[in-house]
Amino acid sequence: MELPFAESYKIKMVETIKKSTREEREKWIKEANYNLFNLKSNQVFIDLLTDSGTGAMSDKQWSAMMLGDESYAGASSYYNLKNTIKELLGFEYFLPTHQGRAAENVLFSATVKEGDLVPGNSHFDTTKGHIEFRKAKAIDCTIDEAFDTEIDHPFKGNVDLTKLENTIKEHTPEKIPFIILTVTCNSSGGQPVSIENMKGIRAIADKYNIPVYYDSARFAENAYFIKIREKGYENKTIKEIVKEMFSYADGMTMSSKKDAIVNMGGFIALKSEETFKKATVFNIVFEGFITYGGMSGRDMNALAQGLDEGTEFDYLNTRIKQVAYLGQKLTDFGIPVQKPYGGHAIFVNAKKFLPLVPKEEYIAQTLAVELYLEAGIRGVEIGTLLADRDPDTRENRYPALELLRLAIPRRVYTNNHMDVIAVALKNVFDRREQITKGFNIIDEAPIMRHFTVKLERK
Ligand SMILES: *Cc1c(COP(=O)(O)O)cnc(C)c1O
Repeated sequence: MELPFAESYKIKMVETIKKSTREEREKWIKEANYNLFNLKSNQVFIDLLTDSGTGAMSDKQWSAMMLGDESYAGASSYYNLKNTIKELLGFEYFLPTHQGRAAENVLFSATVKEGDLVPGNSHFDTTKGHIEFRKAKAIDCTIDEAFDTEIDHPFKGNVDLTKLENTIKEHTPEKIPFIILTVTCNSSGGQPVSIENMKGIRAIADKYNIPVYYDSARFAENAYFIKIREKGYENKTIKEIVKEMFSYADGMTMSSKKDAIVNMGGFIALKSEETFKKATVFNIVFEGFITYGGMSGRDMNALAQGLDEGTEFDYLNTRIKQVAYLGQKLTDFGIPVQKPYGGHAIFVNAKKFLPLVPKEEYIAQTLAVELYLEAGIRGVEIGTLLADRDPDTRENRYPALELLRLAIPRRVYTNNHMDVIAVALKNVFDRREQITKGFNIIDEAPIMRHFTVKLERK
């Protein structure tokens, strides 16, 4: 008999989580103005709001923290991290930042100006925010297959190379400071980009002399999918694949809170000394001196260790199999979820799940609230609230997909938790005919409204 799959780690420390009654949850979510970001964490039983900064650090990461060097300049922790980035990712230059969006802020301050266009594959919300904040535009060149949740395409994060080249030709290369490639592509459902596509993007970039930066939060999960799905990579190690991926990039921004399995941190890594010098000025202004830039020495040490552990096959296999386990349970219940399953999350197709809720009433948000009421599970809307308003017309942007994202924190929950999530969602699915109304906005911020938006029931 073949042995069943089991996690490649055991548990050394536990944290209690609390159940609640439906009555309590009704009260709490109303007080939170039906925005799940406003809930207190102890009002949540299973927290799938994000996989960002919510992972469990290892014993080795905690012990690396004890060896942190808190010197203002030239700390050994900085050199430790610098060497890891050079060895693992292949970049000569690096700047620490306090998280991923800070890396975007610093790099884009040095590169993006008003009227510019930044093509890429479904830009992440903070990436788009930092582009639009500079009165530049993000152009989505993702392949069309990404927008059909049923198609089983292995690399739904891929860029449509024709769309990309047409965008460059139409707007002249001078208007394009760089191409940004998000690996895996968060906004299209944690879907990977193939090596073949990375090579294609590199070739176009070289033809027009445009740099390529990777938004790399989940680069290791992307490498895992390449190993599993792309021909010729099945016998390569994750670390070899990671090296090859970044060999086609000029630089990267990183949210270390994802694949580097730390609770806070980020960085920029670059090949060009010139861009590094430009970015350094902004790093010092916004983040801190170049050898710590927003991070303490101990956190840089934990990050260096996390980068190493996060690019090990056994760890990634455990993680991605757990996400797929939840995806399969939901599929077995007949619940419409995005296929293939993403690396860090399962995305429920809310339009199909709740066909009676009008799009003007925030379909995915309605489903997120229902799941919370059902079992104290907190997912997140990836739909109209997140898509925000058009910066020119101020009209709501209605994205092709309304998704409820169930992000799985790294090394945190067991498959028993996955079973609870699946059954809770099935219970909501069984009463979907009764769910016909969503929400109105009563208050919203001018940019990135989803974090603070206040809603009322229709
Ligand atoms: C999380 C994330 C960011 C932003 O990083 P923070 O650490 O949250 O600031 C940028 N891009 C992608 C793809 C992300 O997933």
